[in-house]
Amino acid sequence: VCSEESKPKLLLIDDSVDVHRLLGARLKHEPVEVISVCSAPEAFEALKGAAPAVILLDLDMPGTDGFEVLRRLKDEPALSNIPVVVLSGLAGSEDKVAAIDLGAIDYVTKPFDMPELRARLRSALRLNRLLTLLAERAEVDGLTGLANRANFNKSWPARVAEADRYGQPLSIAVLDLDHFKRINDTYGHPAGDEVLQAFARVIAKEVRKTDVACRLGGEEFVVILGNTEPEDAKLLAERIRTGIGSLTFARHPDHQVTVSIGIAGRPAKGPVIAPEQWFEMADKNLYAAKTGGRNRVVCTTVGQGGGGAAGAGAGAGVGPAKKAA
Ligand SMILES: [Mg+2]
Repeated sequence: VCSEESKPKLLLIDDSVDVHRLLGARLKHEPVEVISVCSAPEAFEALKGAAPAVILLDLDMPGTDGFEVLRRLKDEPALSNIPVVVLSGLAGSEDKVAAIDLGAIDYVTKPFDMPELRARLRSALRLNRLLTLLAERAEVDGLTGLANRANFNKSWPARVAEADRYGQPLSIAVLDLDHFKRINDTYGHPAGDEVLQAFARVIAKEVRKTDVACRLGGEEFVVILGNTEPEDAKLLAERIRTGIGSLTFARHPDHQVTVSIGIAGRPAKGPVIAPEQWFEMADKNLYAAKTGGRNRVVCTTVGQGGGGAAGAGAGAGVGPAKKAA
C-alpha cells in the first residue's frame, strides 16, 4: 500500500549551491522529497534520520569527497543498500568505474541531461523498492540476520495458538539495550551497529532451534521461547544479559553495554491469554526492569500476580516501555 503523504526521500549531496538550486527546481514534479546537503559531515548527520530511498552524490567535494562517502556508506550495514547515483563532473571514465566499483549503481555526468537524470533516478527508486520488498519477504533483519518484525508478527500468534492447543508452556522475552542512543550519539552509528550485531550474536548463541529470535527495530529485540516454563526462560535471559555485559568493544572499551529484559511466561496448561495481551505483559516487565535500574531481568508468570510487573516493585499503571531507554 502506497501512502500519499510520505514520498520517498532523495538525499542530494553536492558542494555546489547551483546544483542544489537546479535539481531542486527540476525535480519538483518527481515523486520524491529532496533533502539537500552540501558536505559529507552534513550528509552523515542527515542519514541518522529515516533512510533515504536514493542518494545523489557528487564525487568532487572539498574535504571528504564522494569516493570516501561511498566507502563509508558501504561500510555501514544499515546504509549499504541505499542506491547511490554518482554525479560526476569529470569526462574521463576512470572515476565512474571507481565509483561503481565502490558500490554506486549508476552515474550522471555534469552538465545534466535532465530527462536522463530523471530516468536514472526512477530506475534507482525501482531498485530501492525491490530491495525493500525482498527484505520484507525474507523476513530477515538486514543488520543482524535475526528474524524481523514481520516474522514476529506472524510467528507469535501462531506459537501461542500452538501452545494453547497442546497445553505446552511458552514464554516470551522482550529485550532492550540500555541507553543505546548514547552509544550512537557518543561513538557514532557504526559503533551502534556493531553493538546491535554483537548483541544479536549473543542472543543467537543462547537460543535453541525451536526458539524465534527477532529484532523488532532499533535496539529492541524479542525472543519466543517455545515449550519453555517462565523460570527456564529467566535462566536463558540471564545468560543473554551476562553475555552482552561481558563483551568489550574496540571502539569504546570503557563503555559497558547492558540490556534490560522483560519476560512473561505461561506454564503447561496455564490460562489462555491473547497474544497481544501476553506481549504487553512482557513489555510491561521490560519497563519495570528499566525503572528498576536496568541491566536486569523481570519475569512474571501468566495468570499469577495480576499480570505485568509483579515482583518488580513498579506496581500497576506503568506505561509502555517505548519511553524508557
Ligand atoms: Mg562538487
